[in-house]
Amino acid sequence: QCVAVCPTGALTEVDETGNVIRALSDPSKTVIVQTAPAVRAALGEEFGMEAGTLVTGKLVASLKQLGFDYVFDTDFAADLTIMEEGTELLNRLSKHLSGDKDVKLPILTSCCPAWVKFFEHQFPEMKDIPSTARSPQQMFGSIAKTYFADKLGINREDLVVVSIMPCVAKKYECGREEFKTNDNPDVDYALTTRELAALIKISNIDFRTLPNETFDNPLGESTGAAVIFGTTGGVIEAAVRTAYEIHTKKELPRIDFAELRGMEGIRKATIDFDGLPLKIGIAHGLGNARKLLEDIQAGKSEFHAIEIMSCPGGCIGGGGQPYHHGNAEVLKKRQMAIYQEDKNKAIRKSHENPHIIELYKEFLGEPMSEKAHHLLHTEYFDRTE
Ligand code: SF4
Repeated sequence: QCVAVCPTGALTEVDETGNVIRALSDPSKTVIVQTAPAVRAALGEEFGMEAGTLVTGKLVASLKQLGFDYVFDTDFAADLTIMEEGTELLNRLSKHLSGDKDVKLPILTSCCPAWVKFFEHQFPEMKDIPSTARSPQQMFGSIAKTYFADKLGINREDLVVVSIMPCVAKKYECGREEFKTNDNPDVDYALTTRELAALIKISNIDFRTLPNETFDNPLGESTGAAVIFGTTGGVIEAAVRTAYEIHTKKELPRIDFAELRGMEGIRKATIDFDGLPLKIGIAHGLGNARKLLEDIQAGKSEFHAIEIMSCPGGCIGGGGQPYHHGNAEVLKKRQMAIYQEDKNKAIRKSHENPHIIELYKEFLGEPMSEKAHHLLHTEYFDRTE
């Protein structure tokens, strides 16, 4: 097992590839894999392809060749995140607008574990402001080890959930105690994009000549809203697409929100929710996040909702992605690939994902139901003690 250690001692990056290979070779285990949105926009670079080449179909084909029993998509869980986080936003907003002083705004996104760890250490007195929605990685694990394990008729201990992530912080997130049941984690192992590339190479799979294959169902179906989670501004744009239609009960006049896109470290936009001006802030990079948090602390924040991602550009620039050596052009090309994938999708709003609709009907009930709360939400801790 390879262990890379951060020179400051702040982070230990453990390569779980050996454990994944062992699980794949164990006939008593069903091994499933989920792939984060940003991976498909960068993995090709490890095989000499141009930055910004979308390799979704080849990614799926390579995972099938590696022997995973089911190849699923974290994007499915990103759609689920929007159902929960969008509903939470609307609940908090309507209470706030009706004068409930106990309800705090802005709501902050919570899908980036490095950002979660940051506010738990640096701003613990504000730990009730972020959304309680788990990240898509953890929502996926939770649904896989309950709903999907039930469908297969197996115990959660016999289902191994592997993630392919653009991120090193996602490894740490899998180990958080609140994401375990009887010591069994919802997500067993997270590999980075680079680690997956290395595994494909040592397995003698010729990635460039692979055919395009499609994700398995039911946890592989996703919308354009989910794929844009992979870049800065995407989570909040996805939330707007769904929250607007739920709040106004009208169809969105447009799907693309160019005012939420871009690469500036801090951005702001006002979206008209049919007469209600919803003020949105976006920050990527923790220095930028700190500025927005200090405004909230000082009572000066103008926003109803803020998206924060730790990495430059969001997950496309994650620490587990192919090295881009600070080249902003590479990030821009990956970002364009993400928006292209969104455009290619037949369905582009999370609440229209048919398998998400089915999941609520068959298993969860409503967004924010007691069951959804138990399986899809979390709590935060003061880490200064
Ligand atoms: Fe991970 Fe970076 Fe994405 Fe946060 S922004 S989830 S740290 S890759």
